[in-house]
Amino acid sequence: MPKPKRRKCKCDHCKLSAEIERVRKTGDFADAMKMVDYLSNELVQSQADENYHSAIMEGSWPSSVEILTRALANAKNFQREEPHS
Ligand SMILES: [Zn+2]
Repeated sequence: MPKPKRRKCKCDHCKLSAEIERVRKTGDFADAMKMVDYLSNELVQSQADENYHSAIMEGSWPSSVEILTRALANAKNFQREEPHS
């Protein structure tokens, strides 16, 4: 009986890891530079997201109160639906 093929995970992290591995193996400079550009953009975006979420959590974002009030209501609903063990 043939071994069942392991399915590749399709999440963004696994797809990115596979692409990085592919570029690493080929050693193609242009592809490597494209990867650097991509990762650089991702880093800038991640830092912007982090700043945004930090500002909300510390209450300095203009609509922090509305956002946190909604989040608190969601958190309470979530805890009601999935009680802790
Ligand atoms: Zn994955």
